[in-house]
Formats: sequence, structure tokens, C-alpha cells
Amino acid sequence: MECRQIMCGNVNCYLLCQSGRGILVDAAGRGFEGKIRQACEKAGVKVELVFLTHGHIDHVYNAAALAAGWGAPIAMSGKDAGLIVNQFSQPMQTRGLTGRALGFASRRLMERTKIPYFKPDILLSEGDSLREFGLDAYVLQLPGHTAGSIGLDVEGRQLFVGDAMMNLLRPEAPCLFADRTEAEKSVEKIRSLGRRTLYFGHGKPL
Ligand SMILES: [Zn+2]
Repeated sequence: MECRQIMCGNVNCYLLCQSGRGILVDAAGRGFEGKIRQACEKAGVKVELVFLTHGHIDHVYNAAALAAGWGAPIAMSGKDAGLIVNQFSQPMQTRGLTGRALGFASRRLMERTKIPYFKPDILLSEGDSLREFGLDAYVLQLPGHTAGSIGLDVEGRQLFVGDAMMNLLRPEAPCLFADRTEAEKSVEKIRSLGRRTLYFGHGKPL
């Protein structure tokens, strides 16, 4: 599997390519539809799935438009489906100064911007395989940042964690969360998997 990072402001999307087939991990915030589409065209793959790690606006805004253009289904956890309609349908708490700053900026964005509506075509949960989309990858439930945060474990080597961990100053539990205890448990779950390259929604891979 070849992974291409698509930087969209402070959010990372990833295009996972395998034998001419592609899976897009996250769809970024407003204004990045063109950049993502171009990156996928350049890679020369047919994108067959839009995989969303969670329902926050900076990860899902372009999902509907991109998926429609490619004729690809959108997959995410059903536990975050409510966030597409209302970003405030789950609590959003913060930790530390970075958390407060991020929380403030996120709330403003969420109040002012409406996500182009979509209903996820595929609802994912723990252990689901993406083999039918050409990838040896499994879904991991990583709740806490949001109730329906999920990760993707690819070939037992690469782990796409969304915002279940952030690598802002260092890799750690997110400073913004719906449930702090759950978020910390998810970090332990990631640790317990053993050696992986981690790909974050925010910050550099590690
Ligand atoms: Zn998030």
C-alpha cells in the first residue's frame, strides 16, 4: 500500500493506493475539495471509498461532494452520524491551553458553517475489513475524541488514528474530547497494538 498525505490547512487527509484502487481517509474542511480531487487524480487511482475517522467538520466537510464525484460510498461509525447534522450533538470538552484555543476556534467554525449533508452509506464498527475495497485493513473503534471515532489498521503496520491521538507538540491523547476517560483508553488501545507508523489527523506521521 502506498500512502499519500494530503495536507489541508492543519488537517491531514490520506490517500491509500493499492493496484490502481484508492481509499480516501478523511475529507478535510471547507475550501479543500479541489486540492483533494487533484491529489487523487495525480495519483492515478480510482477512489472507491471515502473513509471518515469521525464526524467533525474539519474532517468531513467535502465528503458529500467528493463521494458524489467519484461515485464512491462514504463509510464512518454510526455513532458519529448525528454530528453531520449537528456538530454540537456530542459534548466537546477541552484540556490545557491548546485545548481551550482549539475548542474556541472549533466552536466558532461549527456555529458558522453547515456541513453539506450526507447520510453515510456504510456504518463501520470494530473489526470490519476493507478487503472488498482492495486493502488489507481493519477498523478499530477509538472512542473519546468523539463517540464514533475510528481508526484504520493497515497491513498490521500503518495505523490511521484520526483525532484519537494528535501530534501537535508531541503524540498524545486529544486535547479536545467528548469523553476524556474513553479518549485515554483509546490511546492505551493504540499503544497495545505494538509497533506501527501512526498517521494523525493533526500533526506529522510518526
Ligand atoms: Zn476532531
